[in-house]
Amino acid sequence: MLERTSGAAETEALGERLAAELGAGDVVLVSGELGAGKTTMIRGVCRALGVSEPVTSPTFTIGHRYRGRVPVSHLDLYRLEDLDAEDPALLEDYLTPERIAFVEWPAAGEPAFERVAARVLLEHLGGDRRRITIA
Ligand code: ADP
Ligand code: MG
Repeated sequence: MLERTSGAAETEALGERLAAELGAGDVVLVSGELGAGKTTMIRGVCRALGVSEPVTSPTFTIGHRYRGRVPVSHLDLYRLEDLDAEDPALLEDYLTPERIAFVEWPAAGEPAFERVAARVLLEHLGGDRRRITIA
């Protein structure tokens, strides 16, 4: 699926639509440059999944866990160079069969993701416009 959005609200709305396709155990990999809108889109999905707490970038930790109708994990592996060099149990608490997990900057963890339900790529098109590919 290929979409263009022209503001954060539209990207959130696209995320809300993606929520309908997801179920427990699914992992969604979200790629794109800094500021492309990865966290914004994940915020939209989380809203639609019944998460009421604020959805923000994980900064001092690799991830957040939210309560929703389905429990949700939100990982950001930006600072993680190579998962092999880290504690392999690092992702265990986030990737569980009952959760839906969203992963920003997934490259470092790529081999560890077993149930990838969707891959999302967000690209800058200038200003507030973004191209969003969901495969
Ligand atoms: P990332 O997680 O990819 O680094 P964020 O979602 O944290 O990006 O930030 C995206 C920024 O770009 C936000 O400030 C958001 O308001 C802004 N923005 C402007 N236009 C869009 C758009 N079309 N889609 C998503 N975010 C947008
Ligand atoms: Mg982010």
